[in-house]
Amino acid sequence: MSTAMMGSDVAKAMKEHLIQEVIELKEKGIEPCLTIIRVGNREDDLAYERGAKKRMELVGIKCQVLELPENIHQAEFEEAFQKVNEDPKVHGILLFRPLPGNLDEGPVKAMIHPFKDVDCMSDINVARIFSGDEKGFAPCTAEAVMEMLDYYGIDPKGKRVTIVGRSMVVGKPLSMLLLKKHATITICHTRTEDLAGTCRNAEILVAAAGKAKLITKEMVGDGAVVVDVGIHLDESGNLCGDVDFDAVKERASYISPVPKGVGSVTTSVLANHVVRAARYLTTSC
Ligand code: NAD
Repeated sequence: MSTAMMGSDVAKAMKEHLIQEVIELKEKGIEPCLTIIRVGNREDDLAYERGAKKRMELVGIKCQVLELPENIHQAEFEEAFQKVNEDPKVHGILLFRPLPGNLDEGPVKAMIHPFKDVDCMSDINVARIFSGDEKGFAPCTAEAVMEMLDYYGIDPKGKRVTIVGRSMVVGKPLSMLLLKKHATITICHTRTEDLAGTCRNAEILVAAAGKAKLITKEMVGDGAVVVDVGIHLDESGNLCGDVDFDAVKERASYISPVPKGVGSVTTSVLANHVVRAARYLTTSC
């Protein structure tokens, strides 16, 4: 069976479209701007930050980083956050989480302007995703999966979709986005009794468990579409996903690799959200 790779073509197509949208905004005197707020220097935050900065630059979005020390006090953290939140030149805010243990994210989740909340940290945006409100911003990774399916013309309507993972960043919001497209969803997690059978039954399988190479060939049905959200370093120090790519690709009709899969689309979705945020903030408030 020939297997199609899903990934960088999507990011490329989104890039062309975003460049045009940014040009249109700039012609109206609006410079879309993302501020990344990073507390401390976690390696995975820094890696995502590099990718996000590069993507924003490619499409013409201004991207600035507010670096805060890991031992910052709660009051100072909230003050710094509010300053960015109130800055009319900033349209999108990305706060890296989890925060260091001494900080509580609750107050800033309640504080963030819903239109600046481009990665869905506030309860308002979560509610919008669950109610299907078009103005909500889904978490970028969950939406990246939808962008991939859409780009390759894979319609989830009526299909059996299994998502492995029930986090608020991927599994749960993705289930809502897929449900909106009329998919029949099963969500698996650590207490699922028959993970292999449930995965094998899926026409579309999304792996977002955060466990390297958890999904083996035996867990994938013939011709299934397999989307891998996981990001890990394998024993040789190379990037890999939640799917045992080399074996599973023999069985899947479409598969997303790691790297150059979902991750490449996630930062494009982030850029898209900043553009939408700039539009909302400059026209409706
Ligand atoms: P998480 O740890 O918050 O959630 C993992 C979920 O998977 C949990 O619901 C858990 O119940 C489930 N799970 C864990 N082990 C399981 C198992 N053996 N069987 C069944 N279910 C299991 O993780 P997350 O933040 O949702 O991230 C998941 C993965 O996606 C990680 O590898 C992360 O690095 C990656 N990620 C990628 C992107 C991207 O842009 N590509 C963005 C965010 C996260």
